[in-house]
Amino acid sequence: MEQREVPARITGGFWRSWQDLVGRKVIPHQWRAMNDQIPGAPKSHSVNNFRVAAGRAPGTHEGMVFQDSDLAKWMEAAGNVIRFGIPAPAELRAWAEQTMDLVAAAQQPDGYLNTYFTLKEPDRRWGNLRDAHELYCAGHLIEACVSLSRATDDGRILSVARRLADHIDSRFGVEPGKMRGVPGHEEIELALVRLYRLTGERRYLDRARYFIDERGRKPAWFEVETERPGYRSVFGPMPLEYYQAHLPVREQPEATGHAVRALYLACGMADVALETADASLAAQCDLLWDDVTGRKLYVTGGVGAAAAHEAFAGPFDLPNDSAYAETCAAIGLFLFAGRMARLRGGARFADVMERCLHNGILSGLSLDGEGYFYVNPLEVDPRAAAANPSLRHVKGRRQPWYGCACCPPNIARTLTSVGDWAWRRDGGTLYAELYHEGTAAAAIGGASVTVREATRYPWDGAVAITVAAAAPASFTLALRVPGWCRGASLSVNGKRWGREPDADGYLRVERTWGTADRVELELAMEPFTVRADPRVRADYGRVAVQRGPLVYCLEEADNGADLHRAALPPRARLRAVERPDLLGGLTVIAADGVEAVPLPLTGLYAAGRRPARTRRRPLLFIPYYAWANRAPGEMTVWVRDQA
Ligand SMILES: [Zn+2]
Repeated sequence: MEQREVPARITGGFWRSWQDLVGRKVIPHQWRAMNDQIPGAPKSHSVNNFRVAAGRAPGTHEGMVFQDSDLAKWMEAAGNVIRFGIPAPAELRAWAEQTMDLVAAAQQPDGYLNTYFTLKEPDRRWGNLRDAHELYCAGHLIEACVSLSRATDDGRILSVARRLADHIDSRFGVEPGKMRGVPGHEEIELALVRLYRLTGERRYLDRARYFIDERGRKPAWFEVETERPGYRSVFGPMPLEYYQAHLPVREQPEATGHAVRALYLACGMADVALETADASLAAQCDLLWDDVTGRKLYVTGGVGAAAAHEAFAGPFDLPNDSAYAETCAAIGLFLFAGRMARLRGGARFADVMERCLHNGILSGLSLDGEGYFYVNPLEVDPRAAAANPSLRHVKGRRQPWYGCACCPPNIARTLTSVGDWAWRRDGGTLYAELYHEGTAAAAIGGASVTVREATRYPWDGAVAITVAAAAPASFTLALRVPGWCRGASLSVNGKRWGREPDADGYLRVERTWGTADRVELELAMEPFTVRADPRVRADYGRVAVQRGPLVYCLEEADNGADLHRAALPPRARLRAVERPDLLGGLTVIAADGVEAVPLPLTGLYAAGRRPARTRRRPLLFIPYYAWANRAPGEMTVWVRDQA
């Protein structure tokens, strides 16, 4: 297989500080949470369930049916930490060893691996694909094993993944004697492709394709299995759209249902389309991409507007205060975008990756590494949310853990994997996708090549890349010019590179590279205002502020309350100010805002009166990711454009 991945070790800058936080604090905190050692936090039971299933502790399975996936995501993150050399406590290797040992011991002789069914319903395996998340947990366990086997060269953990995948391969499919089931929560599809890429075992790719092709066929498996004697529902039936099972995947007219499920499915589809050159599947990926990013995406990279069903709402229906925008859904879109970049090429995919990563994913983690958001609204009044039962999902403060803790370890595995998405190689071109400080190595142009990138991005637009080829190497270096950037210049070994970006958004440098060539990119970083498509009712007559990939917000701590009255006049100057003292060090945006002077109150409503005067209201915007790290208060991303 051609090498497409060019993983970068992050050595400094913005992502290094986040990876330091994850390695030093988040991973240990999550380890304690999964061992039920955080006072006052909901119990996880994740590690103990494996201990019991391995016969090493008394008791039974506790917690949600999908609890195995929490530990699996943590294991994947631990694998990333070890593989990339991210600083972490010395005990991490022992914890990873312990989990690998437990997972291997909990695996059944036939390869089956799931603590809930092993302990609670051993004779009902694969009997409730709609609700019980068995294939979802299996997918995350396979991803965990792939990550840890890449990090440690531990053949034993890879064989756990293979035996589990072999077991699934023996049970599911159209062949006689197999079940024609599909998972209620997708994930197994992309995991099997990852295992195929690592092992070269074609059966895993074929089984991933089966799960995609079978979904949505009639009769729907979720209706067949519920008719069977003894079927017990866990979460109750949902419309088939919720599971993306209402139509075959190639016939679905839009992205629908539970957002995380839809996006994990889309990841699997893009993976299979790429590996099998399936044009109709690739075309469906385009359709989903256009629908999600053109009609259903928050400016923060959040997706899944509806709290009910954790689902996509209709086109342009993007309410700010009731937004669900689950952290896992932004991660799902990030993962889909990374795959679309590999499937189709083009800077617009990495543009969405960085929109998700810098905003709606980072907002899921507190700056001290010990609190999480599951839901990421764009406008919050904590007092109103607390008094409104329809906004029960909205929190003004990050939580230490959750009974359903899908998001926290998902953030950990995502932030530790940034280096995997930093570069992309396609044939003779090396694409710089996510700007970062770090090093990577690729075999390209007939030589082994090391690329070193240095930058303060996203605080600064200067990116210096040093290319060191072991022997003269002819290849193209393609630098992404982000869609938001209104001016980029490039020099190669100190000489201005006169070319403009190509239509796909990359500035290309084609040459023979030597042992020490230096490319310097300068991206204009002036702050700017953003307007939404006028069909987005919630944002009409409002603007958001952005600088580089970072979307900004107003918070009560800096701007006082009643943020809904603050306005940013059309010609207000936006000034970027570095504030090393604030919220761990960041760049704020200051602006001369205004607000209408209210008339004296005569009751809740009064006829025909309009405030006559406006007054100055200085505004200070902070990056959206950094909100809710001080005393709880109001926050808004979108601001009125007239008082
Ligand atoms: Zn989640």
